[in-house]
Amino acid sequence: MYSPDFAVLAARLVAWHAVHQRVLPWRGARAGARAAYPVWISEIMLQQTRVETVEGYFQRWMERFPTVEALAAADLQEVLKAWEGLGYYARARNLHKAARQIVAVHGGVLPADRKALLALPGIGEYTVGAILSIAYNQPEPILDGNVKRVLARLCDIDQPISTPAVLRQLWALARALVEAAPTGAAGACNEALMELGATLCTPQSPRCLLCPLQDHCQAAAHGTQAERPVMPPRKQTPHYDVAAGVIWAGSPYRSRLLLAQRPAAGMLGGLWEFPGGKLEADDADLAACLRREIDEELGIEIEVGDLLTTVKHAYTHFRITLHTFHARHVAGAPQAIGCQDWRWVTLDEVGDFPLPVTDQKIAAALRAAAHESVATRAAN
Ligand code: SF4
Repeated sequence: MYSPDFAVLAARLVAWHAVHQRVLPWRGARAGARAAYPVWISEIMLQQTRVETVEGYFQRWMERFPTVEALAAADLQEVLKAWEGLGYYARARNLHKAARQIVAVHGGVLPADRKALLALPGIGEYTVGAILSIAYNQPEPILDGNVKRVLARLCDIDQPISTPAVLRQLWALARALVEAAPTGAAGACNEALMELGATLCTPQSPRCLLCPLQDHCQAAAHGTQAERPVMPPRKQTPHYDVAAGVIWAGSPYRSRLLLAQRPAAGMLGGLWEFPGGKLEADDADLAACLRREIDEELGIEIEVGDLLTTVKHAYTHFRITLHTFHARHVAGAPQAIGCQDWRWVTLDEVGDFPLPVTDQKIAAALRAAAHESVATRAAN
């Protein structure tokens, strides 16, 4: 394995970062227990989400939940609402759960200890490294997608980066680098590595001429930057058709409609939605699918009406086309059979509930259709 002079690389990274780092809202309080909370929140938000998206969410979050105590005291629905649109909602549920544990067990302060941090929900090796190095200045490594790319290029690793052996190698490299950082600069060294991957060592067209590591970089020496990191072969993403219903208690737009809350565990857990589910091979059509799903989820009978809107969405492991229909409640009292809870709400109240992105789009289509319906009635 290529073994560069880590002390030289770490010192260069820290010096480069001091000049070139971007101004980001979570880079305010630099170190200590006060910094641990914003570091934790920002690192969890940044998982799977772009920096530009996170900035606004982070600022609003810190205004709403400025401390671990404030987050712990909040209602889960309020937390999910603040997270609405960021996706991967288990992250928000875990933040809330972990905040309550930090208050109960650690006096409201994130522990400066690997084992204690790993015992908190939603905190894995990566987040531990970020909190310990950036907030508490301990020489603990970080390995996110950006860092993996930089290190895989630096050492010109020609094996897929998802294999256990390569992952071990990347963690070892990240550790060697941060341990070689100048005294007091462990956090800056890690941040520099991430920043380099985000700004110069980008997936396409890395700007090697500006890179502080260029003369040590094996991919740059061999001209293999475009082939590194080696990604695992892509699997085909499955696609599902899903039917959902805007179930009106009476006349569309004038009566209440039914929202259901997803089960607490699992994907989008705790969020509210227009109920429905996946088209199965036995369903004659989407309307039959919707009637079956609503019966299974809420134990009621509905009549399916016109199509309101169709929304396409890609999750990490599958894609869906969500066909949403107007529907009318015909018989039976709703029961929480396949959902956690349900509510009859007015159209105006829908926005008060934390909704997945797909259901926010349905709600927007619904508001537009309601507006049109009022305009048509007025014209007649
Ligand atoms: S020299 Fe180029 S490929 Fe190597 S780390 Fe720097 S930007 Fe990435």
